[in-house]
Amino acid sequence: MDFAELEAVEGLRWPWHSWPPTTPAAASLVVPTSVLCSPLQHPTAPDLLPLLPYAPLRCASPGCGAALNPFSRVHHGSARWSCAFCGAAANPFPRLLAPDALPAELFPTHSSVEYLLPPDPAEPGGPGPPALVFVIDAATAAEELTVLKDEVRRLMQGLPEGIRVALVTFAASVWVHDLGFEGCARVVVLNGERELESDKVGAAELRNPIEVTGGLMVHTESFEYEQFKSCFRHMFRREGTNYLNMNFNATIEIVTSKEVKICGALGPCISLRRKNNSVSDKEIGEVYDKVPTW
Ligand SMILES: [Zn+2]
Repeated sequence: MDFAELEAVEGLRWPWHSWPPTTPAAASLVVPTSVLCSPLQHPTAPDLLPLLPYAPLRCASPGCGAALNPFSRVHHGSARWSCAFCGAAANPFPRLLAPDALPAELFPTHSSVEYLLPPDPAEPGGPGPPALVFVIDAATAAEELTVLKDEVRRLMQGLPEGIRVALVTFAASVWVHDLGFEGCARVVVLNGERELESDKVGAAELRNPIEVTGGLMVHTESFEYEQFKSCFRHMFRREGTNYLNMNFNATIEIVTSKEVKICGALGPCISLRRKNNSVSDKEIGEVYDKVPTW
């Protein structure tokens, strides 16, 4: 399997071919050693990326938590496995697994696997459907507002069943619409008398929240333009019949051996501020308070 084939399976690109063997060699790198991760990539060879119907077996060593993988050593006699990341050798291994029936994550060809986690007892119904909040500037010109309302109404009618929708409009006041109330239109009106400094409500000020959430911004002269309509519809396209082609509340956790420290992450993510020893003093991108979790 060549690099391109491996990347197509794992969604990981390693833009370097040799590891710097010394500290001066590492310091002389012009481009930091990095990994480009595409966690939502659809594998082109799904048969090479097994879906395991159980939770990962994780190292119990404090501050580690690495999952069982092809580089782990299994000691069947003592029913233990050694962690390749921290060296802990006393991790209990399920005795039900015979040497000739190793779990798939130990196969040398399965450096990446996916887990289908069992229901969380704390959340037996799952995390619930996503919620979409539409916030619309009602001071927009009437003809523009009509076009936008038609687009939003069209979109709402095509949403998969179960998705929660909220509508907020604002002009001199803020109107929170109670879409679930039947019988008449019910709205909660909030006082809009608040002074904002000019230049704090523009597109530039929204750049950070858009970037860290993987959001999108469309610049267009009119809601009538096909550019807006096609982008708006593309954002809410469906995957199959019951799902939006979106993903929510993902957490990325990086576990490293002690020789490797993480400088940070670039991309649509924000730090969860969980501290451990895997973070470098040198910070790049999104890293707050020495954390390896986004
Ligand atoms: Zn470990």
